[in-house]
Amino acid sequence: MIKHSRRDVLKVATAVTTALCARGVAALPAPHVDTAGTGFAGVTPTGAGPAKADPTGEDLAGKWHPFPLTAVRLGPGVFREQAEINARYLDSLTHDRLLHSFRLTAGLTSTATPYGGWEEPTCELRGHFAGGHYLSGLALAAATSANDDFKKRGEEFVAALAECQKKIGTGYLSAFPPDLFEHLAKGQSVWAPFYTYHKVMAGLLDMHTLTGNADALPVAEGMAKWVSSYFTGISAEQRQRMLRTEYGGMNEVLVNLAALTQKDRYLETARLFEQPGFLDPLAERRDELRGLHANTHVPKIIGAARMYEVSGERRYREIAEYFLEEVLTARNYVIGNTSLGEHWSTAPGQLQGTLAWENAECCVAYNLMKLQRLVFGWTGRARWMDEYERALLNCRLGTQDAHGLKQYFFPLGAGYWRAYNSPDESFWCCTGTGAEEFAKLTDSIYFHRGSDLYVNQFIASSLDWKEEGLTLEQVTRFPSEQGTTLKVKSSRAIPRTIHIRIPGWVAGGAQVAINGRPLEAVADPGSYVGVRRAWRAGDTITVQLPMALWSQTLPGDDSIAAVLYGPLVLAADLGAGPAGGAERVIHGRPTAPRDVAPPAALPRVTRSAAERAVPWVELESRADLRFKAAGPEGRRYTLMPLYRIVDQRYSVYWQTQPPTPT
Ligand SMILES: [Zn+2]
Repeated sequence: MIKHSRRDVLKVATAVTTALCARGVAALPAPHVDTAGTGFAGVTPTGAGPAKADPTGEDLAGKWHPFPLTAVRLGPGVFREQAEINARYLDSLTHDRLLHSFRLTAGLTSTATPYGGWEEPTCELRGHFAGGHYLSGLALAAATSANDDFKKRGEEFVAALAECQKKIGTGYLSAFPPDLFEHLAKGQSVWAPFYTYHKVMAGLLDMHTLTGNADALPVAEGMAKWVSSYFTGISAEQRQRMLRTEYGGMNEVLVNLAALTQKDRYLETARLFEQPGFLDPLAERRDELRGLHANTHVPKIIGAARMYEVSGERRYREIAEYFLEEVLTARNYVIGNTSLGEHWSTAPGQLQGTLAWENAECCVAYNLMKLQRLVFGWTGRARWMDEYERALLNCRLGTQDAHGLKQYFFPLGAGYWRAYNSPDESFWCCTGTGAEEFAKLTDSIYFHRGSDLYVNQFIASSLDWKEEGLTLEQVTRFPSEQGTTLKVKSSRAIPRTIHIRIPGWVAGGAQVAINGRPLEAVADPGSYVGVRRAWRAGDTITVQLPMALWSQTLPGDDSIAAVLYGPLVLAADLGAGPAGGAERVIHGRPTAPRDVAPPAALPRVTRSAAERAVPWVELESRADLRFKAAGPEGRRYTLMPLYRIVDQRYSVYWQTQPPTPT
């Protein structure tokens, strides 16, 4: 049977318990304030009995859990605007066109005009967006928006896919025939058939779990059974060779299916996608990632993380935690994303010489954020939500344009600009993950651990925690505003603790006030402050999170630095980028404009001896988040948050030089 009973006992960090005894704050028992900088100091989970399994098969005890997407709604602000833009993009797509290749593959009739790019009828990845990311996007949008149209569209789409699967009759479901899988088995050239297959299965499971669609699960199960039969008679050695071809998150989706259905056989099928050659070095804490394709491998770690959650096998957790730590410290750019030309191309910690057009493929950020969220759930470490915020603000916001079109690469070479997919002739991996990302912007704002609430992200939103009878509204213009306000709307006035993330970037100390009365002590940056109280309607928590300028150097070259203001990466405006054409709108392949000139020289500035100091930048307008900088030759720059740079050429990094001796 699937093992649910293994419970990870959280390590007890050195907890410094500080009574927050400001008047008006019921501080019994005292909240925990972790001063070790490692996030909330976890206490040993209470209750020694067997862990309960939730509907997704996870171990409930002692974990930090996200809320269902339906419990959180976005309030007015930049995040809701972005969700609405993405929703309009999803709405603009036509089912008959999306289904064209699925229907032809099943032997059904279609007279629709197919979409182009990676969805064109000759592309070996066709169906990955049409039957996968699109369906996931609808399911996510349905859950986060309460808009029944998304649910209905999703149901129609599932019914159409089910019809295709039924016509084929083997459980197989794809927009391309099984020939591509035969090529894979024979070692012949083929792009990534399982990558695509995974997306379709994930879309179906999302429809099942997020909208309650009853028809989606049996279709996904049929697909899983086909996978199992496909591998029959294939030796382990041959299978390992086949797994060198990208397979997306096949292991993850099969683990999820096993957890949902409580059927062991899907877990066994998931294990067919296990690659010791990739996982073993990570289990031994060795970074052998050089040369690997980033977005092929992050999903494998997400699968390992889910395998840990469902099987309880600690090795998978260790792999996931080491991988995440390593990539985020030794291989990440300041925007919260990794990779050059889709790969990890250097030794760890050696990113010098890698600032180019083809940096930081956007779908990698999507997958890293998924992983951060899972690992946060095991540890409650503020660090992971700091990283999540960094990615969200700097390499998710801004990667979608006003029409819902998405970026592929995130250029970090100086003088480059953003380019986006065409509306109906691209359909890249990053179009797909972006369509999901911007449909689930609510998903990590709040977590809970038992009856304790965790406020992780500062995004205007409301939470309706039905089980605890707590309704909360978060009112903020963050990151334009340096803080947030939480308003309790309704409560049964039962004592419970609300933990608020105090980000690592906070400058000069955060302040928290309850109903206008400040707490005497607030946790250190990089941890959580917990306030215990019998919350009642009308109670207000005001949080001030002062931002300041600071810098972060490029791993491998301390003379190259990026500038941040709080969590926001600032970019220098280097003049107008191309307004349109092939440098601005990119079709199917390649995924970057052709013949882009080498990057410009990084803007030169003079640094000071103080670590993290940014003597070359000044705040010009706090309200507008506008900054200015001056180089040693007198050149002047305007800076703004990177996510607000839409049409301009920019530079994220600066070439710093020591002050001239006087
Ligand atoms: Zn991508």
